[in-house]
Amino acid sequence: MNLNWTDIQRKRLVELDADTVTLARTFDDSDHRNRAFQTLEKERVAAHRRHLDALRSGARRPRLCRLETVLVEALVSHGFVQVSTPVLMSKGLLSRMSITVDHPLWEQVYWVDRDKCLRPMLAPHLYYVVKDLLRLWAKPVRIFEVGPCFRKETEGARHAAEFTMLNLCEFGLPEDQRRQRLEHLAALIMDSAGIHRYRLESETSAVYGTTLDVVAEADGLELGSGAMGPHPIDRAWRITDTWVGIGFGLERLLMTAEGGSHLSRFGRSISYLDGIRLNI
Ligand code: ATP
Ligand code: MG
Repeated sequence: MNLNWTDIQRKRLVELDADTVTLARTFDDSDHRNRAFQTLEKERVAAHRRHLDALRSGARRPRLCRLETVLVEALVSHGFVQVSTPVLMSKGLLSRMSITVDHPLWEQVYWVDRDKCLRPMLAPHLYYVVKDLLRLWAKPVRIFEVGPCFRKETEGARHAAEFTMLNLCEFGLPEDQRRQRLEHLAALIMDSAGIHRYRLESETSAVYGTTLDVVAEADGLELGSGAMGPHPIDRAWRITDTWVGIGFGLERLLMTAEGGSHLSRFGRSISYLDGIRLNI
């Protein structure tokens, strides 16, 4: 007989973050299997309780918070200024990004009232802020924001309705250095996130035309999308400078760094604390 876990056992093991080898185990009979399940469950629960103890004692913070801190510190130490803009975004600012009814992203926007939505991206507010900073500061002007973004999505394992975006941008750099700079900034973020195997790929984007995506080598997951300007969208903000920018998803960075297969245990949650399922 070649028995695998029952559906209930498998579900529990997935919740307890069992690895793929464990999930693929087979048994000669149900007695052996059920005993193996009990032992494994006990071990996993004990490990998870130790993890919760570490959080309780202050020895660690949830990894999403830690990653945010690490990335903020890396960018600040490289001359980027952190900004913090509202989560509510006006319809007018979205339309300046060319996101209007006939745009693919339009259908994914959560509207709060007639002309306000939960931001699906950070770029419109960053454009808004940088147009003034370009007047006030010598170039290059480097800013970034990290915070929640919202999109109605259909595909689950790699998409969450609420996720954490990091968007960095640098304005006023020599035109012939843009590609090299994008590569350098992608490397800074990947290195800080502990991801060593990734590649850059040219993609077609609904907003920016061509983008330079940062993709995980192991499974082809898009971790970030980079773009460069001047770009036709800049006109709405009367910006004429050269720029480069990249938007990353923090949950996807974590999932890649830690080898997970579903975003749910890496994002904001009421069922998980730092990836630990609380029903243990
Ligand atoms: P995808 O094609 O994978 O849906 P996208 O190209 O629509 O992503 P971008 O608009 O380029 O996404 O957003 C920048 C980054 O934000 C992405 O590279 C990804 O890491 C992250 N991201 C976008 N949408 C989501 C989501 N729904 N859940 C988690 N992360 C997301
Ligand atoms: Mg993209």
